[in-house]
Amino acid sequence: MDRAKLIELGIELLATVDIIKKQHGESELLNQAVSVSKAVLKKLRNMGVEIDFKRGSIYSEVSAERTRQLLKWGEQNHNPAEWLMILGEEVGEVNKASLEAHFSGYKNSGDYTEYRNELIQVAAVAVAMVECLDRTTSLGPVV
Ligand SMILES: [Mg+2]
Repeated sequence: MDRAKLIELGIELLATVDIIKKQHGESELLNQAVSVSKAVLKKLRNMGVEIDFKRGSIYSEVSAERTRQLLKWGEQNHNPAEWLMILGEEVGEVNKASLEAHFSGYKNSGDYTEYRNELIQVAAVAVAMVECLDRTTSLGPVV
């Protein structure tokens, strides 16, 4: 297995373990996933690769948001222009949240929680766009 694939696998395993832990608590499946994750991480460290655990946690938040979107809207197959309108709407919500956190006079002034939540939604929509493109073209990753 090449280095890039191993890094991708390590990050995906970390995100998966985090999601399982959040949704189901401790379990045998989780313990197995942890064992596999540790083995991959050990191999990565031996190769001199450092894993950013916070990044893995952010990816798991994006993945959870993507699952929430899928449950809410089902599989969405839009063309790129339609997707960009949807992404633009989400970016607009980031702008609004940022504005309300930055300027005084808003009830959430100084609080960037909603700004962060909206950024996760933007990332999840971008993932949905890639998923759709991969479903409808031959541009998807080679597994
Ligand atoms: Mg939003």
